[in-house]
Amino acid sequence: MASIVVAVVFALKWKKYKLEAEHALAQHHASTELTINELESAKIHGCIDRTRRRQVEAVFEVLKDAVIVIDAHGEVLHTNEVASSVLSCTPKQAAGKPIDEVISDHQLLATIKDAHTGLPREGRMYEQEISVGDSKVAYEVQLQSVGSIDDAHHAVVTVLRDLSQEREIARLKSDFVSKASHELRTPLSSIAAYVEMLIDGDATNEEEQKEFYEVISTETERLRRMIDNLLNISRIEAGLMHIDRETCDFKMLVDRAVTNMSPQASEKSLEIHTQLSAVDLSVNGDSDMLYQVIVNLLSNAIKYTPEGGRITLSADSDNLTRSLHFSVTDTGLGIAPDQVEKVFDKFYRVENYKRVAKGTGLGLNLCQHIIETLHSGQIGLESDLGMGSKFWFSIPIGGRAAQKAA
Ligand code: ADP
Repeated sequence: MASIVVAVVFALKWKKYKLEAEHALAQHHASTELTINELESAKIHGCIDRTRRRQVEAVFEVLKDAVIVIDAHGEVLHTNEVASSVLSCTPKQAAGKPIDEVISDHQLLATIKDAHTGLPREGRMYEQEISVGDSKVAYEVQLQSVGSIDDAHHAVVTVLRDLSQEREIARLKSDFVSKASHELRTPLSSIAAYVEMLIDGDATNEEEQKEFYEVISTETERLRRMIDNLLNISRIEAGLMHIDRETCDFKMLVDRAVTNMSPQASEKSLEIHTQLSAVDLSVNGDSDMLYQVIVNLLSNAIKYTPEGGRITLSADSDNLTRSLHFSVTDTGLGIAPDQVEKVFDKFYRVENYKRVAKGTGLGLNLCQHIIETLHSGQIGLESDLGMGSKFWFSIPIGGRAAQKAA
């Protein structure tokens, strides 16, 4: 809407300046004997006209929407650079040409010509797919008349807003909502089924009852984690996540994660090793969030490594790049090359591993947000299918620690 208001205002000014200039020129032609003063004055007027014209052109160029203005004769008065995509020539070449010669999309051409013969007071607005090169692009088309139709000043302003990005966002949103509801429904259905079985007295002894309650408890916890992760991811994406930066002792974070996760690793007879560099590993960041990333990567290594495997956590800092590098290497299932990028997507889980361990498919996405969005770092993975994986991240040391390292 803003574009059309600006475009209409400037189309009106444009017409006014053009008519003033034409009028001045006509007057000069009419007079056979121009005095020196009159010639000087015409030059000054011409100069002012050119300045105004450049100002108007500059405003058209600032607009993010394509603008095409045609005059009462159906000739192009002005277009901006953004309009190049729908024109068959450059905006400069289009100026002064009949509209038929510059617009190749038949429907758009017909609409503009139609508007030329009359438009409702409030203009017209509709959505249309317009040919751009070999493809079709969705646009919102706004048409507005300037001046009355039988007036010599009459002009039609067409503003085209590219809807591709908006449509892509809408598609991603609806994709996300359907994935999220599907994923949330899975643990919920399981909880509902076990509760129903308990009500119906399907658990015949205490041991079975306990088993049912445990499933309910695990699934409730999964649901809680999923909702927490989802909320945190959307807060980060919306730029609403508050991060408490402080100088964190990274070694301490790794040791705490290993201590807390050891019981799970022991259950599967997995060995956990740490290779922490002897140098100062303090880093400026949010210790709770960094701890969450370490735990997530370690917990995945435990989940996706078969019994008797080995997990190694390494951390080192690089004085040259002033960054801290951390990795978790396992001797687990590994990830196929075509899935390496996908594991960081929301809800993505390797199909065959769904039976191996329960999960949300959100952990790695949250890790990526914490490292890349909140700590300006990088996260990645190297993997050999069937041999194991190495998940790593690096973050700038930042703050005072960085100065010390430098
Ligand atoms: P989940 O809660 O399912 O573990 P994540 O986002 O943490 O969710 O991980 C996404 C998927 O990536 C997992 O479901 C699993 O298929 C795969 N994955 C993650 N870590 C590993 C690993 N160390 N080894 C093999 N596959 C892994």
